[in-house]
Amino acid sequence: MDLFDSNSSERASLPRNMIENSMFEEEPDVVDLAKDSTAFPTFPALDPDEVTYEPRSSRLLVRGLGENDMDDDEEDCESSARLLGMSFMNRSSAHRSNSSPYTRQAPPRSCSRPSSRTIVVCVLFLVIVASVTMVFYFLPGCTFTKAGCHKPNKTNPIEPVYPISTNGELFPWAQLRLPQSIKPLSYDLTLNPDLDKMTFTGRTVISMSILHSTNRIVFHGANLNITKATFKLGDGQASDVTILEYKPRQQLAVNFSEELKAGQYCVLTMEYSANFSNAYDGFYKSFYIDKDRNKRYPLVLAATQFEPLSARKAFPCFDEPAFKATFLIKISRKKTYMTLSNMPKAKSTNLSNGLVQDEFEKTSVNMSTYLVAFIVADFTPNTKNVSETQVSVYSVPEKNGHTEYALTITSKLLEFYNNFFDINYPLKKLDLVAIPDFLAGAMENLGLITFRETTLLVGKESSLLEKQVVASVIAHELAHQWFGNLVTMTWWNDLWLNEGFATYMEYMSLQEVSPDLETGNLFLSVRFRALDKDALNSSHAVSTDVNTTEQVEEMFDSVSYEKGASILLMLNASFPGDQQFRKGIIEYLKQFSGLNTDTDDLWNSLTQEIVNERGKSKTDGCQSAACTDKSTHHMNVSQMMTSWTSQKGFPLVTVNLMGNQVTLAQEHFLLTSDNTTHTLWHIPVTYVNDSCSLAPECRQVFTLKNKSDTFKLSENVTWLKLNYKNTGFYIVDYGKDGWSALAQALFSNVGVLTHEDRASLIHNIFALSRYQSLLIAFSDETDTETSPVTEALLQLNNIYRQLEKRQESNLNFIMSTFRNLTAKQTWEEEENVSKQELRSALLEMACNLNDENCTQQATSLFKKYMESNGTLRIPGDLQQTVFTVAGRSDETWDALFNIYVHATYDSEKRKMLKGLASTQNPQRLVQILSFGLRGSLIQTQELPLVISTMCQSFAGCLFAWDFIQENWDRLIEKFPIGSFAIQAIIKSVTSQSSTQAQLNKVQAFFSGLKERGSQMRSVQEALETIKLNQRWMDRNLPTLQKWL
Ligand SMILES: [Zn+2]
Repeated sequence: MDLFDSNSSERASLPRNMIENSMFEEEPDVVDLAKDSTAFPTFPALDPDEVTYEPRSSRLLVRGLGENDMDDDEEDCESSARLLGMSFMNRSSAHRSNSSPYTRQAPPRSCSRPSSRTIVVCVLFLVIVASVTMVFYFLPGCTFTKAGCHKPNKTNPIEPVYPISTNGELFPWAQLRLPQSIKPLSYDLTLNPDLDKMTFTGRTVISMSILHSTNRIVFHGANLNITKATFKLGDGQASDVTILEYKPRQQLAVNFSEELKAGQYCVLTMEYSANFSNAYDGFYKSFYIDKDRNKRYPLVLAATQFEPLSARKAFPCFDEPAFKATFLIKISRKKTYMTLSNMPKAKSTNLSNGLVQDEFEKTSVNMSTYLVAFIVADFTPNTKNVSETQVSVYSVPEKNGHTEYALTITSKLLEFYNNFFDINYPLKKLDLVAIPDFLAGAMENLGLITFRETTLLVGKESSLLEKQVVASVIAHELAHQWFGNLVTMTWWNDLWLNEGFATYMEYMSLQEVSPDLETGNLFLSVRFRALDKDALNSSHAVSTDVNTTEQVEEMFDSVSYEKGASILLMLNASFPGDQQFRKGIIEYLKQFSGLNTDTDDLWNSLTQEIVNERGKSKTDGCQSAACTDKSTHHMNVSQMMTSWTSQKGFPLVTVNLMGNQVTLAQEHFLLTSDNTTHTLWHIPVTYVNDSCSLAPECRQVFTLKNKSDTFKLSENVTWLKLNYKNTGFYIVDYGKDGWSALAQALFSNVGVLTHEDRASLIHNIFALSRYQSLLIAFSDETDTETSPVTEALLQLNNIYRQLEKRQESNLNFIMSTFRNLTAKQTWEEEENVSKQELRSALLEMACNLNDENCTQQATSLFKKYMESNGTLRIPGDLQQTVFTVAGRSDETWDALFNIYVHATYDSEKRKMLKGLASTQNPQRLVQILSFGLRGSLIQTQELPLVISTMCQSFAGCLFAWDFIQENWDRLIEKFPIGSFAIQAIIKSVTSQSSTQAQLNKVQAFFSGLKERGSQMRSVQEALETIKLNQRWMDRNLPTLQKWL
């Protein structure tokens, strides 16, 4: 999946302790055994995969029996005992826990001369004692201790507490992850969508193999109304079965009175009905206007988005990535629609009800459920054959002219990947579909990749920057056809194996396939943003525990994507040869083709490649670079990379140069410096020096594994620059002398370092917040290259936005730093991508800061554009600046809104929408937000963009914050808790706050949400970021005021 908006987010990312606290809160639907005696004695037998112990359920058991009913029983016992003149019950819990529950209830000795009343009391007493004995018999000894039962008892596994199904029966499974006793082999899906009634019916036939003997089948299903279910074991007769449902975990189950034996095969057939999803996941409906053919009524289409947890909303299935199977899909439609699915169409049959049923070929490879996809729509294709594959780009008919670029770049990329991975794309067809209403950037479903229109369609007049977006997203999704679809992570904790790789390959492939797009700069800034986010204490390890559905959603973040990609780049850059990394991943893909893996599998494959290469070098007589580079010669990929994937954060490397002696030290770089950790990384530290600093041959490597280490250079140098081209995932502090030597060197010749190295110095110095010396170099305009300037602009803009939210916006210092460079920018067409990037960044900044020259130019360009009635073109990279200026002016806002409503080209529309959302007019702000929430005139998928734009200004952000608080429940209906869209919204509205009052408001709102979102990691990130901003401002505001 491509996250789109959250990828391109420009601000420093924001924070996880609350998760641990709230994770063990009571789950309301779990049965209280003490109150439901019928539920108590009927636990089914344990499966081999069930011996794990779930603390949450047992804790409930303690509460149910120990605190309420047990106390009542005790009171009854005691009053009975008092009547008998006895005091048998010691209420000390310590006494209970250290004596055996079997021997503690000795029968009372003194009922020797009973009156009738005493007999009644005695009988009552005995009954009570018997009940208590029973309770103690069934409960573990630790139940009444304050600490409860924490450790599983290996000899007597504690039985889990099963929840209650919707029909009142006991649901036979109590965990998030499904049992491993049944393996699905194939699915036969028939879907009958009714686009008029917005409902669908379905029939799912699942063939399964029984791996371990068991009494039940547990799988997933959400919001499906199952009308009939039959089960067939081996060659036996099919018979009706009852499907149990446990809604909170979206699980379904069938209980069997007789055990299903390991080695048998079985078939479960279910018929069901459901509504189309109203959100952007599952099988959802979507509307669009086709201007060519239907001006008045919106047309409808139905499409799927299953990753990560929504295949279960369209059909009952084993919805975890490790349950791979084959799929045969049939969909019925009206004759005016067409259908698409993962595989090529096999046949179409006319049905008696006037509909047509399309049947697709059975998938030729095993596939995870999240990769299944189907679409019912009225789309037209643009097709081309590439090698053995028919590539088609689909869009709504009126936009078919915008598909050519995607078709061309996909063809090139497909050939590149077929060759690079040395494994051909496995299907005969590859469809790329632009869906008018789609939340993510794109989704890599096998053979049927779905996109937003913005990330697939390119108008004839689009700028290279727009092509860069489209090419990057296509490159990312195509890479998934190998990384993710062919070889898939076993569980969502290793999502980075999908996303880190696809992100890395997206930049890598385009540098080869389309160097004119200059994606190197984009990747560099993506790495800076990943560092910013990972510097928070609330960050998480690349490979991290995932135990709730919200945590699954939260894995789709900058750590999985961008940090994942960054550490792969670092690894590749530390390999001595340029082919070893590639050979290692080819081995990995071939070895695990069609299977699931975890992170260690990848590192083992790459380590093996190093070992093989070393073996070869020995027989070659050692001519290759691998033999000469001692540090990498002995590189153990597993050891090195585990330090990067199993620990959160990254190191700060400090360097001290004395003549030719270099001392390096590492520490965990945390923005909250009060958190000291003893984490160490295996860092392949690269460096260049004053005598050789630009060419790749200048680069040398030293692997720092310890807290500190020293090595000698062959000659004395005046300065060192570490982290050559910023390919390593760490930041560097050169010390006072080191920084001034570098500043001096740059001052006399800015070209002494590569532009990546200059940008890396700027990023690092801001991260270290000791930036004065380098800013002086900038005010003298010694640097005019894109990546250093845009990084400096972004960092300064960040500070400016915080100052503005403190009403300190008179500190208009950015303009003075870049005034001359800005004045040099033209307003004509510009061909070169990096010049477009530089120009758009500078002019956007200048106009946002109300630079008169800039706003005048933009206003006049917008007027000409309006007067030309759509014939004049605004250069693509300047459109955002022009539309923003137009949107901020009360005079032109309505005109812009009118153009927006009638515009069809999505990428341009988004720029107009950002312009509209830049207004300071309260009524218009409210109008935009309510349009977005309703999905009228502004699609709901654009709300995260609208909110992030509004939050660029003080007034806008206040409205956005009110809106989010008032409409939180409606927002989480559309965007699941923890999802990237919600992460982006929280980040937008909080990341520029820096005062105690703002912190209090944010904290109060989110903590009040409870299970509706307070446990999200992004809430922790938000709080941590505001505290950091606050601290930074308190420390630096006086200096800034003086200095600026
Ligand atoms: Zn992806």
